Amino acid sequence: MGDRRLFRPKWVLTPDGIREGASVLVEDNRITAVLDAGADLSGIDAEVVELADQLLMPGLVNTHTHVGAGPVGRGISEDYPLPDGMPFYVPLSRLWRWAYQERFRESFRAVMEWDTLGMLRSGTTTIVNHASTDIHGYLDIAARSGIRTWTGPTIPLDVTHRLGQLDRTAGDGSAERPDSISGDKQNSELAELEEMFATWDGAADGRIRMLLGPAAVHTDEFSVLQGVAEAAQRLDCLVTTHLCQAPGELAETQRKYGTTPLRVLERAGLADDRLIAAHATYLPVEDYELAASSGITIAHCASRKAKEALTSPFQVFRDAGIKVSLGTDGFSCDMVEELTLATTLGKIATGRLHTPASAEVLEIATAGGGRALHRPDLGVIEAGALADLVGISLADAATWPVFDPIQTVALYASGRDVRLVVVDGEIRVRDGAVVGTDIAALRAAADTALQEIWSTAVDEGLLTEVLPSTSRRNGAVPCPTS
Ligand SMILES: [Zn+2]
Repeated sequence: MGDRRLFRPKWVLTPDGIREGASVLVEDNRITAVLDAGADLSGIDAEVVELADQLLMPGLVNTHTHVGAGPVGRGISEDYPLPDGMPFYVPLSRLWRWAYQERFRESFRAVMEWDTLGMLRSGTTTIVNHASTDIHGYLDIAARSGIRTWTGPTIPLDVTHRLGQLDRTAGDGSAERPDSISGDKQNSELAELEEMFATWDGAADGRIRMLLGPAAVHTDEFSVLQGVAEAAQRLDCLVTTHLCQAPGELAETQRKYGTTPLRVLERAGLADDRLIAAHATYLPVEDYELAASSGITIAHCASRKAKEALTSPFQVFRDAGIKVSLGTDGFSCDMVEELTLATTLGKIATGRLHTPASAEVLEIATAGGGRALHRPDLGVIEAGALADLVGISLADAATWPVFDPIQTVALYASGRDVRLVVVDGEIRVRDGAVVGTDIAALRAAADTALQEIWSTAVDEGLLTEVLPSTSRRNGAVPCPTS
């Protein structure tokens, strides 16, 4: 017999709704039974894990993020006005490019680990990491941390190429893109990635899966997009990309191809159910039918878009029959908070109080992620499913009393209420703390790395929009921990 655990929360979230007083039996990495309140548990030989005042729900599936990007940039420029025509993230690309240099590679791993464990601790059990840097470092962290992940490096990896020049825009408002990352270079990055599949796809008892990640239609050569489609078939893997994220992307695609980004993906053979496309904020209405019929999933990142004073029409996508999942896309690592924003901003977007309902958003953030990843056994609590579980305390003043745990968790809880995280049957967070991790030491290491990155960036004049004074040099850069 393998490891057996019996989880006894106050409530269990199952596909049929809340079951108060139920227990969940896990053996090795699978759920073997959901037992009703009042069931005779005396004959069950298992470690009993009591979860008083907690809702036990499926682990959250973050289907779009870039591990490490958040800690480098969050809280730095969100409240500053930006020059006309620039999306929120463009000035930060200068900082990201700086942080992703080879010289910081070793120290930056502490930042990526901090971010990964931040997601894990706040209830995310699966991360789709569209890796912006150092995929090897991330894979080591993923293997060690116990998280479940689908990942691959962004193609091309060069962030300046991906996001465009910072202070030059074409006449139509789209960012100018340096030509340094040629089609040949992009294709060689794809070839290198294929070699990684042999080593990493299915590693860590299957918790680690590789995917292919072209950055976006307008940043990748068409031959690369075709190469990705061909490789995805051959390797039988998923693909992720950004889609219709900003108006400039549509303008640039129109100029280059005479059509929309999704139509280009279709031409390249990428518009199918292997594709997880982040945002789609500006997806043209005439492409909705193709998005639905092709089977792509749109990864909705509510908090990220809200900081750009935007919301993507994700409920409209759902009404059109398009598959939707949730993601954070950097900055935030808290998928519970993402539930609140997706629900509340979704209501504002529709103008209807009951649409989307909390239960729908919660389902999208769990089973919806499983569907996007072709894993119907992921994101549900039922016999036979993977044992990826989250226990959230609803006893705080912000959450208690509880009438309907689904509405409470989606509208009033945060990742800080997470007490238990189980991935693949292993307890990774117990009593709110990451098991086996010296979190203070990790934070100190991440802090050292970030201080160096920020200080040298200020010295180089890379943050003039937000830190115009060089008098803030040498450790006086705002920092969360020192
Ligand atoms: Zn992204």
